[in-house]
Amino acid sequence: MKVLDTYLRYGINTELASRLINLNLSISSIKTLPSKDLISIYGLDANEVHYLKNLLIRQPIPNDVLNELLENNNYVCCVCKGVKSDGYVIHHINSYSITQDNSYSNLAVLCPADHDLAHREGIGLTSKLTQKQIIQAKTKWEKDVKKHNSIKACINGIYSHIEYCNIERIFDLCIQTHSCIPKVELTDYLIENEILLPSGFVNDIKLNKDYPNRVISPLNFFAGGGAAFLREYYFQLFQSVLNNKEIVDLDSLLNKTALTKNNIIGTMCIYIGGIYGTTPKIPLTIDSSPVKMYIRRKPFYVTWIIDPRLMTSNTAIIRIGGHNIHFICGTIRSIDTIIIKGEKFIHYDIRPYIMGAPSIHFNRRPNISYRNDMVDLLSFFDDEDYNILKTT
Ligand SMILES: [Zn+2]
Repeated sequence: MKVLDTYLRYGINTELASRLINLNLSISSIKTLPSKDLISIYGLDANEVHYLKNLLIRQPIPNDVLNELLENNNYVCCVCKGVKSDGYVIHHINSYSITQDNSYSNLAVLCPADHDLAHREGIGLTSKLTQKQIIQAKTKWEKDVKKHNSIKACINGIYSHIEYCNIERIFDLCIQTHSCIPKVELTDYLIENEILLPSGFVNDIKLNKDYPNRVISPLNFFAGGGAAFLREYYFQLFQSVLNNKEIVDLDSLLNKTALTKNNIIGTMCIYIGGIYGTTPKIPLTIDSSPVKMYIRRKPFYVTWIIDPRLMTSNTAIIRIGGHNIHFICGTIRSIDTIIIKGEKFIHYDIRPYIMGAPSIHFNRRPNISYRNDMVDLLSFFDDEDYNILKTT
């Protein structure tokens, strides 16, 4: 347990706690030392001593609750997101003196300035931070943090598996960015095992001879470790490009400001969430047609065209169908308008590089929409979505 946490658990803010740590004043010494000593020997002021003595009568917040709250809020004030100060304090939404409620739902991370606002009394409503505002800010911020963390995890290579890799586009990106295929962690291992050529390109001639199936599915060709290493290799190459390029959360581009302010064509973006699609016909053949995956958020309609032959497993192919959670990275290729069932949408056509199953994700809609229960599920979709579900 971090030393700082022992102070936070009593509702002492990080700034005061740091001073107390520097003064070598533990919780128990503040409790037992007479106030006059804390003032004369340690140089605290009388108000601070009074304030501390009062806080230390409380039951401390349980460690697991504190840790969960801090992590879910990224150690930042949920109201100003750290704009007013880096410091923070654990605030009781319903006053501790009345409720003694140390449960998660009654706690919020606030900076000292917003904490003062929350405790301000008898002043016009506009200058006070109300309980309702704090709860709303906490809920929204925790969701944003979760989304941010899940995107970061996918970019850092923390996912449960890669489902799709557009090999040629990834090689093209590498050439554009590095003027060559860069050496990544797996390069030497794969060259040693003759899966790669010394140039970093894939040893297609040998692999296609050993695994004839690979001509149809270059990433879904044998069950052993080889194909899995190859997928990981493509991801590592993709990451090497990301180190030199900015990747944007697609959500931040689905609004009027993003659309009108800059030219966002060519922007590399990532989306994590439920995406609709139709399962391709199995077994795949050399002529299998591309499938469309899409999300719709009025007035936006976003599509990713996927070549099913570049899927990494049969499970991944099946998972395209219906409404499943994926992460998908790609570049916006064009923006136009599209009419679907008489309704006009702004259409983003995204060229995908990598798609996978995230290991952590966040719920965009109520849990119910992801339940494997057709009756509940259908209440969330309109007719078009329903047709897609029926055919899969
Ligand atoms: Zn704040």
